[in-house]
Amino acid sequence: MQLNIKDKFNKELPSDPILENSRRQVAEACFSYVTPKQTRKPQLLHVSPEMIEKLGLSEEDVKSDDFLNVFTGNDVLSNTKPYAMCYGGHQFGNWAGQLGDGRAINLCEVEHQNKNWVLQLKGAGETPYSRTADGLAVLRSSIREYLCSEAMFHLGVPTTRALSLALSGDRVLRDVMYDGNSAYEKGAIVCRTAESFLRFGNYQIFAARQDEKNLRKLVDYTIKHHFTDLGVPSKETYIAFFKEITNRTLNMIIHWQRVGFVHGVMNTDNMSILGITIDYGPYGWLEGYEYDWTPNTTDRQHKRYRYGNQPNIGLWNLLQLANAMYPLIEEAEPLEAILNQYKVDFDKRSLEMMCSKLGLQIEAEKDQSLIQELEDNLHLTETDMTMFFRNLANFKKEGVVEGLAVINDAFYKPDEVFGNIEKRWKDWFATYAMRLQKETHSDEERKENMNLVNPKYVLRNYIAQLAIDDADKGDYKLINELFQILKKPYEEQPEYEKWFAKRPDWARHKIGCSMLSCSS
Ligand code: AMP
Ligand code: MG
Repeated sequence: MQLNIKDKFNKELPSDPILENSRRQVAEACFSYVTPKQTRKPQLLHVSPEMIEKLGLSEEDVKSDDFLNVFTGNDVLSNTKPYAMCYGGHQFGNWAGQLGDGRAINLCEVEHQNKNWVLQLKGAGETPYSRTADGLAVLRSSIREYLCSEAMFHLGVPTTRALSLALSGDRVLRDVMYDGNSAYEKGAIVCRTAESFLRFGNYQIFAARQDEKNLRKLVDYTIKHHFTDLGVPSKETYIAFFKEITNRTLNMIIHWQRVGFVHGVMNTDNMSILGITIDYGPYGWLEGYEYDWTPNTTDRQHKRYRYGNQPNIGLWNLLQLANAMYPLIEEAEPLEAILNQYKVDFDKRSLEMMCSKLGLQIEAEKDQSLIQELEDNLHLTETDMTMFFRNLANFKKEGVVEGLAVINDAFYKPDEVFGNIEKRWKDWFATYAMRLQKETHSDEERKENMNLVNPKYVLRNYIAQLAIDDADKGDYKLINELFQILKKPYEEQPEYEKWFAKRPDWARHKIGCSMLSCSS
């Protein structure tokens, strides 16, 4: 196996001088060297053909023992020195101190076709940052990360990606619902990839420790390798750096809102400095369009990370990053101006995004209220987001088909749609039909455009759970089927129509389908 290894992070940045793998506070270092754990019986379950190509590997490589061993942590590539990163973070609004890669181990950086890829194993054993946990991952959460990160990529959402999914052959003890009922589950390892896995928390930890020297080193390193266009470090560059991170974060969240993705744990340690979706844990997909929905059971009480609050949390997290960057800038105004602009940009981009979901290309005065009324209507009775927007593209502007008939399949309880609810929908469709008259493109063209932004297939919570249930029994076919479907989320794929369906009733309250735990 020939990879073009170009390690930079562990070569250019300060390392933890202690090599022992004990849990501890690590000061004045960006990472600690670690060795992945040997596993009992590693077995590859799936490999992403696209990622193989992106890394410059071949099908032959994938079949080799080398591949299996390296991407399950049983072998370390020569000339590489795996490491775990040191970071801190705000968890659920509170500063949590040092967190770090507790169950992620970076193997190396690979350069191919002018791109940098960090290869990182998730679930390959303890690191100095494992705190009270075991550094391992279970099959269910690994399937969820593997499938969803690739699905998000194909949806056009900035994200980390995944190279491989493997069983470790070891058993892992987990208490899924935190109710004292621990059980053994199959252990698994995902090799995930990204240009960089740096998070807001990597910078915050130095700021919290008043270690300006290393904060500056890390920021300068990040600009040099990942924000090259910004040029040489200076106060202005740091401000531009923060502005760029703000723009990228906003862009990512707008995409989440567009496709109905709810991250579930937007702690600052789970916010990528590159503005890519990172750390797929108790995430979920909106079924009923509901601002208040959160997939994460830990967040059920306050719903901090609910769908409708993601844009606000993005801003809150950016404020924490601004605080961390402040010692290098020593001026609050430019940072405040950037944060204020986020709100302005959010309103603008959110409106544009919703207009695109409705197939509106020309700007018109009352679009804001058309969208507001739509969002209100979507909350009247449980209405499936994905089905609603996909089917809405079948509406005809001449009004020959009744709007409600077009979207009827999206209602979980169609018999609730009468009286006032029915009237409000009819009113909305009347306004929408009138609004469409202003557009110059035909119904067919509009449908084509809408189908490029409103996916037909997303990794619904219950669908992922079906793949997990099968995999637990040793049947991995559905993982592959979903992997293939989700590569073309905007295409009709009539052979897979059965996955274009509302959540079935059995899934409404099932663990893994409607409730997800951080215990992964
Ligand atoms: P999360 O919010 O799930 O991204 O994780 C928060 C912190 O807990 C990170 O520092 C993780 O590395 C760590 N962590 C989560 N699960 C485990 C585990 N099973 N073993 C060790 N550390 C973990
Ligand atoms: Mg995390």
